[in-house]
Amino acid sequence: MAKKWVYLFGEVAEAEKYAGSWDGVRALLGGKGANLAEMTRIGVPVPPGFTITTEACNAYLAAGGKFPDSMWEQAMEALRAIEAITGKQFGDPSRPLLVSCRSGAKFSMPGMMDTVLNIGLNDKTAAGMVRLTGNETFVYNSYRRLIQMFGSVVLGIPDEPFEEAIEHHKKQKGVKDDTELTAEDWKILVEEFKATIRQHKGFDFPQDPIEQIRLATDAVFKSWNGKRAVDYRRAEKIPDDLGTAVNIVTMVFGNMGWDSGTGVAFTRDPATGEKVMYGDYLMNAQGEDVVAGIRNTKRIAELGQEMPDAYAQFLDICDKLERHYREMQDVEFTIERGRLWMLQTRNGKRTARAAIKIAVEMANEGLITREQALKRVTPANVDALLHPQFDPKAKKLARQQGTYLASGVNASPGAAVGLAAFDADLAEEWGLAGKAVIMVRPETKPDDVHGMIAAKGILTSRGGATSHAAVVARQFGKPAVVGCESLNIDLAGRHLSVGDKVVKEGEWLSVDGTTGEVFAGQIATESPNFEEQKELITLLTWADEICTRDGIRSWPADCRGFPTRGLQVWANADYPRDADRARKFGAKGIGLCRTEHMFFEEERLPIVQAMILAETIKERKANLDKLLPFQRADFEGIFEAMDGLPVIIRLIDPPLHEFLPSYDDVLEEVITLRIQIANLEKQGAKPGELSPVQKELLRKQKLLHAIEGLREANPMMGLRGIRLGITMPEITQMQVRAIFEAACNKAKEGIKVHPEIMIPLTGHYNELRTANDLLVPVAREVMKEKGVEIDYKFGTMIEIPRAAVTADQIAAYAEFFSYGTNDLTQMTFGYSRDDAERNFLLFYVEHGILPKNPFQVLDREGVGELMKMGVKKGHDTRPELECGICGEHGGDPSSIEFCHMAGLHYVSCSPFRVPVARLAAAHAALGFKYEGD
Ligand code: ADP
Ligand code: MG
Ligand code: MG
Repeated sequence: MAKKWVYLFGEVAEAEKYAGSWDGVRALLGGKGANLAEMTRIGVPVPPGFTITTEACNAYLAAGGKFPDSMWEQAMEALRAIEAITGKQFGDPSRPLLVSCRSGAKFSMPGMMDTVLNIGLNDKTAAGMVRLTGNETFVYNSYRRLIQMFGSVVLGIPDEPFEEAIEHHKKQKGVKDDTELTAEDWKILVEEFKATIRQHKGFDFPQDPIEQIRLATDAVFKSWNGKRAVDYRRAEKIPDDLGTAVNIVTMVFGNMGWDSGTGVAFTRDPATGEKVMYGDYLMNAQGEDVVAGIRNTKRIAELGQEMPDAYAQFLDICDKLERHYREMQDVEFTIERGRLWMLQTRNGKRTARAAIKIAVEMANEGLITREQALKRVTPANVDALLHPQFDPKAKKLARQQGTYLASGVNASPGAAVGLAAFDADLAEEWGLAGKAVIMVRPETKPDDVHGMIAAKGILTSRGGATSHAAVVARQFGKPAVVGCESLNIDLAGRHLSVGDKVVKEGEWLSVDGTTGEVFAGQIATESPNFEEQKELITLLTWADEICTRDGIRSWPADCRGFPTRGLQVWANADYPRDADRARKFGAKGIGLCRTEHMFFEEERLPIVQAMILAETIKERKANLDKLLPFQRADFEGIFEAMDGLPVIIRLIDPPLHEFLPSYDDVLEEVITLRIQIANLEKQGAKPGELSPVQKELLRKQKLLHAIEGLREANPMMGLRGIRLGITMPEITQMQVRAIFEAACNKAKEGIKVHPEIMIPLTGHYNELRTANDLLVPVAREVMKEKGVEIDYKFGTMIEIPRAAVTADQIAAYAEFFSYGTNDLTQMTFGYSRDDAERNFLLFYVEHGILPKNPFQVLDREGVGELMKMGVKKGHDTRPELECGICGEHGGDPSSIEFCHMAGLHYVSCSPFRVPVARLAAAHAALGFKYEGD
């Protein structure tokens, strides 16, 4: 038997059997065809029709533009089947059947052939239709529409000659609306259109209806390889071998009079997600009139008054479709003389806000499970909801007022409003002066970063989602639209323009990084308040429930101690107010509290410097004693904020020179003082005048000497972290004392404290053993003094490759590991992050030398392997070892997925990323079962 190339809408069961799944049916029949067939199956009124498969398209293209064997015969047979169902006949003037020809691939995509309506009309059937309907106006309007669509869509003639002829005619008659034209007008236009085709193509509009279908089908298949379609597939990574289907659908007419109409609707509001029908319709009109915007449409709810019966049926059908597909639907319908027909349904596109609301409400309505609701929301959706956004009403108004300029790539979410500045220096100058700035450049370079940081938003005309501007914007959380190509940026003239719209330097711009839109002028923004986002909070609570489920992760039998629950999300927070925020966003602990910033504060820095410069241990200790109360107070604040949750505090990490003034500055001061003294001596100054300056010189020289002593060729690899703690134990001992005093004090007040002391930069287990010997006794001593026992842990960061490789030895001295993946990535690649990002990393990413920036997305094959090795070896020694990540990767969804697979207990990220990370952790838990390597 020949291969089946053609399926009637009634044959969806067969298609399913052949294709094996619903996804397979969509691939075979295209999205449009599959859903038309499915609607037919569940009893929704769909005009009879059939689909020529995507396989036929592929066979046609493979054969260099020839229909495969028996395809056309099958199509003709299907046409006869439709004739039998409708009681009409194709090409028969006494009861003509008319059809539309519609393309439809698996994914709806631009660039495919546009729909041709009213196929089957010719001079004879038109006359027959007039006898049948008694409505000449309707018939000749439909006929001219066929010739026009056929001419432009199938034969590739530009639309203008057709449109201009209609306009010209309307002007002549002095009418505004198409519906005011008469049968005679349309008849004239039919003849004009035929002449246009003859003129452009050298042949006549085909009068044979079969020939009309054949040419239209041919054109649909060809459109698969049209430039626009191919470009779109490239950009969206849609495979080229899917092909498109062709749908032949019996025509129904919304333009048969004022008891007919047509419309499009969403089953829920796609902007807000609210459960109300949302859409437009037109009475006495054909399909594309609604979208074309030539006539003013009415809001869908008004149909309830105009045609109550049809509207009630429509609401029923929409409800049925939603329950069937368990998704918000975007539908097309036509009412022919009071009778309702559905012409299309598909899952509706929606904003981030609507996506979250619809997912949660559908789960609450029992349409979908909570797991499905979670899978329908993307991390980007959540992210978009946490950034300032334009007030939708203000944005709509701006559109109406014509301030919309252009759209580009939505590279970094959020809304930004500011004055246009065309270079980085000006952006910085204005930014520092407290002005809101949008930095506008054709593209950005590393030299521009200072301006980008000072700007509220970034706009470029070149580059894509991985361009320098995009990468930097995301890194700093700045809204950005990049690659906005229709924008003319005139750097010399200090303005940008689109058509005749011009924005000069210093004038307002509004940039929507969530959608990619750019407007002239100021649009009001609204700052989202997490506490008010009911549905998001509900959704994230579900995410947490999934993650805490026992057995959501499974592990190889020979591995001990891995968590079978999913990831928790912790936060990096240095200050109590950050800890507060993290907790509000749902963090279950602090994964990294850095202590060095505490040294930098104004009243403390002089003490810190005196401590560093101390010549005796006694002097150093005296200064540390002065610092202790400050540190203790900091920790008390954090313990209070995190009552009941673990807090990982990292002991001092950076090299000491960071707390001292720069060598060059002090050297300059020394030289200046020397010159001053020389001058004073020349002028014969008295000792009384000289000695204060000399004293100052001595002090500065001593400082210079000290700085010189601390100077290192590569300080980031020098005396810092655990090495500093070992060579100068007084500092870390003071810190441990401050932590435990704070913890004991708070515990006495009834607060549940769980401090975890983290030692950075361990490379060899002996380092950790030494550090423990220095620090654990201090902890014990404080608890004894205070008479309180605290639940605490000592552990280390894993950020040096050697530590990961020797994790079994290290784990003997660490109760927890925290992967510091920023440093681990630097040391694994051998890149210094700042230098790499400034000099070559972006080039690497843009040119595909590296797939991603490894500082943003965890490098699974290198850094990730080290992590897995560390987890495995660490657990071999200590099954109860707690493992987490505190590098920036802890907030990146792809990296979070990896952390789930690698067996970590938690990811820790910046407080603002916590909601996104909670969703990503649930996604990882839902999508992955670890089966071992
Ligand atoms: P698009 O993908 O551009 O929406 P469609 O194939 O859905 O293209 O068709 C364009 C318009 O023509 C839609 O409004 C659709 O409802 C209408 N239409 C398509 N086929 C028919 C038909 N057989 N009868 C009436 N209207 C139709
Ligand atoms: Mg289309
Ligand atoms: Mg459509």
